[in-house]
Amino acid sequence: MNAKIRPGHICKTCGWPVIYTLCNGGMGRTQPYINHDWWVYCANKTCEKHPGEAHDPNNVPEFVHVQDQTPVSHRGRAYGL
Ligand SMILES: [Zn+2]
Repeated sequence: MNAKIRPGHICKTCGWPVIYTLCNGGMGRTQPYINHDWWVYCANKTCEKHPGEAHDPNNVPEFVHVQDQTPVSHRGRAYGL
């Protein structure tokens, strides 16, 4: 499995980082990941977006907010995973 966090990509619902993962290995044989190359989900297990959704690498998912890369401190502990 190949998973990564993209700097500045956070969940609009809770502010946690989101994880982009390649659906290979066991994931590629498991619903609902079959027939999708990429999946994206919120790292926060209590968030409604944790189950995630199929990801088109050409688009930013609707529930993801992309911050500019200027360091911000007001995100506080939620962003300091
Ligand atoms: Zn979230």
